[in-house]
Amino acid sequence: MNETSQKGPNEKYCSECGAIIRSKAEICPKCGVRQLPPPFSFNLGPMTPNGRNRIVAIIFAILLGSFGIHKFYLGLTGWGVVYLLFCWSGVPAIVGIIEGVLMLVMTDEEFTNRFG
Ligand SMILES: [Zn+2]
Repeated sequence: MNETSQKGPNEKYCSECGAIIRSKAEICPKCGVRQLPPPFSFNLGPMTPNGRNRIVAIIFAILLGSFGIHKFYLGLTGWGVVYLLFCWSGVPAIVGIIEGVLMLVMTDEEFTNRFG
């Protein structure tokens, strides 16, 4: 039995020496190497009770706003259809960017209250 398999729920493996260390440890006490956060695991923040996420909605609004994808994502299907119908005009793309910026300055609490 390999002793490194005994990792507890609040522990992780050192990225350098593989020792079991506290998951919140920034520096491995065994080898002294600073722990780097794993790539692409940035925190998206809390999900609303309906499983929506502000950052995801912002990305949809800015990148896919002209198709109303963020509206569909937020459960506003009627608006999503309107955006889709007028996507040729370019207006929904501009409105989508504005909505993305508005959600960017919004707190997670406000987002949950509005779209949760
Ligand atoms: Zn180490």
